[in-house]
Amino acid sequence: MYLFSPRIICFLFFSIAALVGVKVDAIEMRVNDGPYVSQQGNKLIATWVCKNQQKNIIVPIQQASTFVEHCNLDATIFHQPVTRTSEVFDHVEKVAAISDFHGQYDLVFQILRSNGIIDKYNQWSFGEGHFVITGDVFDRGEKVTELLWFIYELEQQALASGGRVHFLLGNHEVMVLNGDLRYLHPKYQQVSKILNVPFESLFSSTTILGEWLRSKSVVVKVNDMLFAHGGFHPNLASSHTSLENINTVFSDTLVKSELASPRSAWANELHTSNGPIWYRGYFKGDIPTEDQLSQLLTHFAVNHIVVGHTSQTTIKSFHKNRVIAIDSSIKKGQYGEILIVNHNGTFRGLPDGKRIALFD
Ligand code: ZN
Repeated sequence: MYLFSPRIICFLFFSIAALVGVKVDAIEMRVNDGPYVSQQGNKLIATWVCKNQQKNIIVPIQQASTFVEHCNLDATIFHQPVTRTSEVFDHVEKVAAISDFHGQYDLVFQILRSNGIIDKYNQWSFGEGHFVITGDVFDRGEKVTELLWFIYELEQQALASGGRVHFLLGNHEVMVLNGDLRYLHPKYQQVSKILNVPFESLFSSTTILGEWLRSKSVVVKVNDMLFAHGGFHPNLASSHTSLENINTVFSDTLVKSELASPRSAWANELHTSNGPIWYRGYFKGDIPTEDQLSQLLTHFAVNHIVVGHTSQTTIKSFHKNRVIAIDSSIKKGQYGEILIVNHNGTFRGLPDGKRIALFD
């Protein structure tokens, strides 16, 4: 009897866990996450999971922004209308682009700090530069919420300096918003259980982050570069396809369960494998001919298409530099790069801040 007392069983369990090298933390899954914030009238309701316990805080809305904090997890909520930005930006002196964070908070911060996007206090330091994130902040990793609030706040800091953050939607943002949770880190499954709601409802249209995500584009043009998470099949580029049309149709049909009527044929094309969040055709499968690529670039009046989604070991250029692949496998948490374009050229920015010319 004595041998099977709860204390002995517990002792044996943790001893075996220690012997086989399993972290006790991981077994217990003591989860901290949040805040998830929604606005109700003149109040904000912020929810955290702190050491597996739900915590709600109701705070009155301050004039310009409201700061909420609990459990060492904070957010600054800005009170201004959320609107989609324009699609075309010219005469931008410096541009940086990165992709596929997948919850790898520490590595992302290292890359951004050493390449001058943020300072040592994690504040915007890229001046009037434009910083493009080509999607897939969600899924796989365990610091997605922190990254989303970071980007949300960085956008405002950039604007205040005359710069811009362009956070484009990737397939993983769209999957989570649509309740496709196949790639969720187990931590977020636990958060959903503790809060007793479907995970995607934490990003519903009535939440601060959900409303913000629903305002995001899938394509943006900066100088002579078109950015998208996956890319764009040349067949989809026809005379009536403007960047504005692509963003509007995509955005209007973003979350299936919120639509009054089914997606149109064009909306469906944008949401499937030839469209901006899923396309991989520049690298594998039915690769377009050089002529088709030329037509695509001419259609959008750009010299380069910059995409994430298809993982590479480093930032690489393809098809005579017309396609630039910037998913440098940050998702593995080991290494990653950022594309830097300025008056000196086009560079791979390495995690230690060194730069290597991508092409002349
Ligand atoms: Zn992707």
